[in-house]
Amino acid sequence: MASDSDLLDTKPLDAKPAETRHPEKAHRPDQPTLRKPDWIRVRAPGSPEWSATNKIVKEHKLVTVCEEAGCPNIGECWAKKHATFMIMGDTCTRACAFCNVKTGLPRALDRNEPQRVADAVAKLGLSHVVITSVDRDDLSDGGARHFAEVIVAIRSLSPKTTIEVLTPDFLRKPGALEIVVAAKPDVFNHNLETVAGKYLGVRPGARYFHSLRLLQRVKELDPTLFTKSGIMLGLGEERHEVLQLMDDLRSADVDFMTIGQYLQPTKKHHAVARFVTPDEFNSYAELGRAKGFLLMSSSPLTRSSHHAGEDFAKLQAKRQALAPERGNS
Ligand code: SF4
Repeated sequence: MASDSDLLDTKPLDAKPAETRHPEKAHRPDQPTLRKPDWIRVRAPGSPEWSATNKIVKEHKLVTVCEEAGCPNIGECWAKKHATFMIMGDTCTRACAFCNVKTGLPRALDRNEPQRVADAVAKLGLSHVVITSVDRDDLSDGGARHFAEVIVAIRSLSPKTTIEVLTPDFLRKPGALEIVVAAKPDVFNHNLETVAGKYLGVRPGARYFHSLRLLQRVKELDPTLFTKSGIMLGLGEERHEVLQLMDDLRSADVDFMTIGQYLQPTKKHHAVARFVTPDEFNSYAELGRAKGFLLMSSSPLTRSSHHAGEDFAKLQAKRQALAPERGNS
């Protein structure tokens, strides 16, 4: 069992000042920081298995959202070889108020990246992999073709590995979504991140109803794909807004919803309005199941890709269990 010294308060892994990673936030006043409650404590990274995952990631010159976002679960996930790859570089063209990924002008696409991702997936022996990316508003297709190339490369080297994509919104990129769906990932995830009323302050480059429509369109294009979306709590949202968002996701036929606590990466990022209690997270999970989601994952440390492999197995089992019911209706 872990001693207290094995447990960490969660801090971004990249200790560089906000100014170098987020030049657009440098002039902003510092935001107040709240002391984290006891339930936001995680195991420190550093086990031999964590080191083995780290070695493979570095050898293949890959970027992970686990590191770039300063994810609190990295100790646990990497010990199980579960790393989430972030393709198309480490620099994002958006500047969301919650996100620790570096912002700026990204480099040209690396055409060898799909093969390197596929090699790493094979080396790690993953049964399920999550692929995400930075926003690439600078590319005419938003990076959709690159996503498709990564899926094809993984399929050819690891045909049994199931693939989950967590994509940007491809705003103003006609045809981009269709390219990714045609590559047939097993799970299509696009996060709403927060309630509609918070978009301007939290996700100013995105549009709530565009993101919702994107999820709905995925299901229209290929009803066999599982769709998934997630939000963070603690950004100042009201409970009735979260319930409305859940209804909106169900109207878009989304299968799986994730809800986690927002953690502030630096003082220049959006403040944490409050730490939502584990009981409140549980109540959202119950409500979500009642509203018809196939699966709900709702806890302070839930992240989109946390336990994604186990959750995919649950999704498959739930769909199978419902098949006769739906066939008879
Ligand atoms: S929850 Fe996701 S982003 Fe966080 S460490 Fe695990 S795989 Fe990486």
